[in-house]
Amino acid sequence: MELEIAFECPQCRKRFAQNLIDYAPGTRRLCPACGMETILTSDCLQSFRADLESFCRQPH
Ligand SMILES: [Zn+2]
Repeated sequence: MELEIAFECPQCRKRFAQNLIDYAPGTRRLCPACGMETILTSDCLQSFRADLESFCRQPH
């Protein structure tokens, strides 16, 4: 399983998942639909947290 973190466009409310491996702090992620800069919302963080918890529960 790959861990993805979602960013949300404040304008059109679309979400874009980015692989955590590719995540780099300070990098701008623009919405492919409208070009606005996407943001991390608390909703995004909550779903990431749920993903992370199920990821940690998986046997390795
Ligand atoms: Zn957008």
